[in-house]
Amino acid sequence: MKDKHNIREDSPKKSGLRKIGVFTSGGDAPGMNAAIRAVTRAAIANKLKVVGIRRGYQGMIEGDFIPLRSADVSGIIQLGGTILRTARSNEFRTAEGRGKAWLQLQKAGIDAVVVIGGDGSFTGALTMSQEYNISFVGIPGTIDNDMYGTDYTIGYETALNSVVCAVDKIRDTAVSHGRIFIIEVMGREAGLLALNSGIACGAEVILIPESKEQHEELKRFLDKGYKDKERSGIIMVAEGDEPGGALKIAEKVRREHPDLDVRVSILGHIQRGGSPTANDRVNATRMGVAAVDALLDDQKSIMIGLDNGKIVQVPFNKAVKLNHSIDGELLEIQKMLNI
Ligand code: ATP
Repeated sequence: MKDKHNIREDSPKKSGLRKIGVFTSGGDAPGMNAAIRAVTRAAIANKLKVVGIRRGYQGMIEGDFIPLRSADVSGIIQLGGTILRTARSNEFRTAEGRGKAWLQLQKAGIDAVVVIGGDGSFTGALTMSQEYNISFVGIPGTIDNDMYGTDYTIGYETALNSVVCAVDKIRDTAVSHGRIFIIEVMGREAGLLALNSGIACGAEVILIPESKEQHEELKRFLDKGYKDKERSGIIMVAEGDEPGGALKIAEKVRREHPDLDVRVSILGHIQRGGSPTANDRVNATRMGVAAVDALLDDQKSIMIGLDNGKIVQVPFNKAVKLNHSIDGELLEIQKMLNI
């Protein structure tokens, strides 16, 4: 893999690329704007025209396109959310919807597209590129950090810090009142956000969909010493944990330990927004430049990832089908430290 991103005087001619599209899709994630900026400016530096596709695949179907010049992406690197907006489109899941999207891309003269989103967005891109002659390159933008083939997805670090800030505040109340707080964080299928925020906040128990054993930990924790009303506890739960999120867990804990003062806090959408961290901006910028590089190299259906700090290219079919594994070491550490 090249680690230099030179401006290539002859690249548009060589690759046949003239105009690329860029869009954000699925849930918004902080750092998406930094990626849009990097894609736009790296493309312009390589003499490509850039079109912003608004509202994800739905905007593609409806031809909701805007030209992006360098000035249009000025002053956005520090903004959360996405200036192109995002959407979930059921119509794009149908062959008819993708046909409409293809016609709009053709009409606008778009030769290739950078998609910033999660595994659903990449699955859509892969399907469309198998049906029509269009190249997609993906940038992983999701706060879940659950994509296979990359150590890092854009927005994860910002979301992690938002969770840690919120839980630190809740801890103050938990300690002051001797309460047990069950805190639910985002992650329908992935527990990485819950796991790392739990470690960072010194949570007593962390419940994630990837590990059933953690429920034994919860039992041990509750049976152990929480009869003592002086003590408090933080239990982190990923929303997708079985048998349910924070409300279900709280119901069970209250039933089995009616003497405990148990409260629930569902952090919800405060986890998604906000100004991206420096790392989210830097990684989004590197990935944006690498995505344009990949298109100039005639790559298609690949996701840009980071592996031990290095930019890598991961085929979409691997990125969307395989799971990002959970670090067992962190679970062990958490268990050991909660004595
Ligand atoms: P997040 O991780 O934030 O949820 P995501 O990219 O996984 O992001 P999804 O809602 O799963 O978010 O997917 C975004 C959009 O991609 C969908 O609304 C749909 O338009 C398209 N998409 C998802 N799966 C498919 C599929 N199997 N076929 C065609 N299009 C799809």
